[in-house]
Amino acid sequence: MADIRDLRIAAIGAGMGGLGVALAFAKKGFRHIDVFETASDLGFVGAGIQMPPNLVRVLSRLGCWEDIYAEATDVKGTSIREGSTNKELSHVAMPDIEEKYGFPHCTGHRASLAGGLYKACQKEPAVRFHFATVLVRYESFGPRPRLVVRPRDGGEADERLVEVDLVLASDGIKSATRHQMLAELGVEAQEQDTGQAAYRIMLKRSEMEHDPEMLALIDSDEVVRWIGERRHIIAYPVASKQIYNLSSAQPDDHFAKATNATYTTRGSKAAMLKVFEDFCPLVHRMLDLVPDGEVCEWKLRSHKPLPTWVHGSVALLGDACHPTLPHLSQGAAMAIEDGAVLAEVVSRVAVDANATVEDRAAAISRAFKVYERLRKPHCTALVDLAFQSGRVLHLGEGKAREERDREFRLNGKSGSVPDKWASPDVQKMIYGHDCVQEAVDEHDRILAEIKEEEEQGQEKKTDGVHGA
Ligand SMILES: Cc1cc2nc3c(=O)[nH]c(=O)nc-3n(C[C@H](O)[C@H](O)[C@H](O)COP(=O)(O)OP(=O)(O)OC[C@H]3O[C@@H](n4cnc5c(N)ncnc54)[C@H](O)[C@@H]3O)c2cc1C
Repeated sequence: MADIRDLRIAAIGAGMGGLGVALAFAKKGFRHIDVFETASDLGFVGAGIQMPPNLVRVLSRLGCWEDIYAEATDVKGTSIREGSTNKELSHVAMPDIEEKYGFPHCTGHRASLAGGLYKACQKEPAVRFHFATVLVRYESFGPRPRLVVRPRDGGEADERLVEVDLVLASDGIKSATRHQMLAELGVEAQEQDTGQAAYRIMLKRSEMEHDPEMLALIDSDEVVRWIGERRHIIAYPVASKQIYNLSSAQPDDHFAKATNATYTTRGSKAAMLKVFEDFCPLVHRMLDLVPDGEVCEWKLRSHKPLPTWVHGSVALLGDACHPTLPHLSQGAAMAIEDGAVLAEVVSRVAVDANATVEDRAAAISRAFKVYERLRKPHCTALVDLAFQSGRVLHLGEGKAREERDREFRLNGKSGSVPDKWASPDVQKMIYGHDCVQEAVDEHDRILAEIKEEEEQGQEKKTDGVHGA
């Protein structure tokens, strides 16, 4: 194979990470990308999502931002309020995000983000989707990975073997790839229950417009967070302000029994109202609009930092390797950034026509290690920050909370806000980070470092810190 773009690629999962990585490889000119997805279509997308400038930068370069932006809300500020009184603790103006970082901070519908990526993939003849198809197991992680897939409703007799040159495993928080990879490496999987769950609520404009306070919320360009002890609700308009999206975090008290396969369970409306019973009347009125039987509750799961994200010619990305609490609104952004960086580093793999399969696999494996060194410290830091931010947001009465509220009252003028997603210093660190440019700038140095370590028979670890 003279051209690296003829490599056969399998992407596992068509979530944000899988769609993003398939598109990023296609845009780099790779010609054979097969995406295997358990769901029969794009799966659960019934919620809102924040799209920060670091994500928008990548989507823009992938050429799919315009359609998504058409329905998005350009966020101009955030209001952090005491849940019980609706009193504003802090107002952080964000009028100049685009000016500072080159791209806006937006909120949108997940269906709009997933749909935009999917539509762009469909324009690429290189990308083929295999919906309702499950990755069952790996027969081998290299030199040419061999994976067993089968129709979702099929049995063992329907299994088939797929052999490719590399696998991009974006199979989410419950990643089968991660499980098998860690088992093969002799590492114990350390999934963590965060002790938190989330309600996802979408209210229609028609349900809100009779109420002036609600109408003001859906008509604003703001993200609002109501906080209380061990709980909060974050809310913003999506879908051209036709839908108001609310997402909560609260103690995971309703999960005595296991959740279903998608971590989406039907919650009880009475239980939801009880969780937020001491929140203000405005919040009550909104929660009360949710029809009985349509309360959607997600369990928030996590995993201890992995010793590695890559094994042979298989790389993990997105929630499969760095699941995060949502408090920093960076999960999907990190997954899509991972894909863009993977495409950048793999496109730089140099192979000549006479290279053996083993030589080629070794080159791919080195490219994956470059990806890991670029992304792992950054993502691990963000996962940790999301955890820390949640802890501060959920403080109960006491000195620490008084100090937090004093800092809130400075409205970001000190350069820092306790709600980390809204904090100017954190925004600078995350939004100013151009992951692809970093890959371009750092690729040769990191690759040389890896080759040198290989020669010396030792490898540097890229572990980070994580408090969850
Ligand atoms: C309450 C909440 C709010 C959030 N808010 C935000 C936000 O505002 N902004 C943000 O950036 N992020 C947010 N996130 C995080 C974000 O949703 C995730 O980090 C992101 O969707 C991860 O993408 P992924 O592709 O890695 O995984 P997923 O989206 O989970 O996709 C994995 C896909 O793989 C498929 N799959 C799994 N196993 C197999 C298999 N064996 N074979 C075939 N297919 C398989 C699944 O069906 C799924 O489609 C939030 C998360 C939560 C829980």
